[in-house]
Amino acid sequence: MDLKLLEQTLIECGEPRYRTGQVWKWAARGAGAFADMSDLPLGLRESLADTVPFSTLTVEREAHASDGTIKALFRTQDGRPVEAVLMVYRDGRRSICLSSQSGCPLTCTFCATGQMRFGRNLTAWEILDQALHFRRIGAVDHAVFMGMGEPMMNLDNVLAACERLPDVGITHRRTAISTIGWIPGIERLAADPMPIRLALSLHAADPALRSELMPVNERYPLPDVIAACEAYYERKRRKVFVEYVMLAGVNDSFAQAAQLASVLDPRMFKVNLIPYNPTDSGFTGSSPKAIAAFKDELERHGLDATVRLTRGRDIDAACGQLAARASPAWSSRSRSSASSSGEGSNSATSASSSSESSPNRRRNSSVVR
Ligand code: SF4
Repeated sequence: MDLKLLEQTLIECGEPRYRTGQVWKWAARGAGAFADMSDLPLGLRESLADTVPFSTLTVEREAHASDGTIKALFRTQDGRPVEAVLMVYRDGRRSICLSSQSGCPLTCTFCATGQMRFGRNLTAWEILDQALHFRRIGAVDHAVFMGMGEPMMNLDNVLAACERLPDVGITHRRTAISTIGWIPGIERLAADPMPIRLALSLHAADPALRSELMPVNERYPLPDVIAACEAYYERKRRKVFVEYVMLAGVNDSFAQAAQLASVLDPRMFKVNLIPYNPTDSGFTGSSPKAIAAFKDELERHGLDATVRLTRGRDIDAACGQLAARASPAWSSRSRSSASSSGEGSNSATSASSSSESSPNRRRNSSVVR
C-alpha cells in the first residue's frame, strides 16, 4: 500500500492525520481490504476502496511446494515482474524472502535473476506489499532480502521498508540483508541504527573465479569487501553470514575450504553452505558427503558452519531460482494481492572455484544469494 498516496488522499478528504496510522495498523496485521477496518467510518472505507489501491502489486501466479513453501509472482503497476517466497519451517519459523529490484543489473553468471532483463528498483511500498501479501495468509516472523536484485543498490527503499517490518511481525534482529559485496551499502548498513543482520554471498574465495562468477568482484575486490564486513561486525557486534553454494567439482574441494577459511575471521563470520538448487543451467550440486567434508574442514579451521535447509525446490522457489519464469507448479491467479488474502488463500541465492574442464564453469546457473 502506497502510504504517501493514502496520506494525501486522507488529507484531501479532510480526515485527521491519525487515520493513516490507523489504516496501516490494520494492513500490517493482515487485513485484506479497507472494508475490514471496522473502526473507520463506513463512508471513508468505501471512498478509500475507490481511490487508493490496497496493494501496489497484483498477484499474477502462485506456486505451492510440498514442504509448505509458497512462491508468488507479482506485477507492479507498470508491469514489472517481482517474486517473493514464504518459507515455513518445522520449528515454526515463517520466513519471507523479499525482492528489492525487478530483475538485477549485476549479471552474476550463476544467477537466474541475473539473466533477466533489469527492470528497476522497487519502491518501499512495493517491497512492503510482498510482506503484506504473506502476512494476510498468516503470521510471519523472519525476513531475508535474498530475492530478486541487489538490495544494497536500492538501500533507501529497502531500509524504509525495514523500518515498518516490525509492525508486520518481523523485528530488525530477525531481518537480514544479503549482498554480493556492494561496499557502499555495507558501510551504510553498518552505520544504520537498525540491528539488521548482514549476509555476504561469497561463493568463491579465489579472486579469479569470483570475478568470473560475479563481475562485481572487479569493482569491489573480495579483500575490500571482507574489510567492510569486518567493520560492520566491529560496529554491530553481529556475525556476518557468509553464503556459499556447493557445486560439484567447482568449489567444493578441501583446498577451497581451506582457502575460504583463510579469508574469514571465525569471530566475525559464520558460513552457511547451500546445497545447489537444480535449474536448467547444467550445474551439478555437491553430494551430501562432499558438503559434510567441506563443513568439517571449515570447522577444523575454527569457523562455525551450517548447511542450509532447502525449501521450495520443487517450485523453483529455492535460493537462486527466482527468475519470474513459467513453472508447472504455478497456479494462475489474476487478482490483486489484497484480494488473495480475503479468500484466506494460499498464498531465496551463490556459487564458487576450480577446474577449467568442469561443465559448471561454462554454464549459467540460477543460484543464490
Ligand atoms: S546474485 Fe544477486 S546481485 Fe548477482 S545477479 Fe543475482 S540477484 Fe543480482
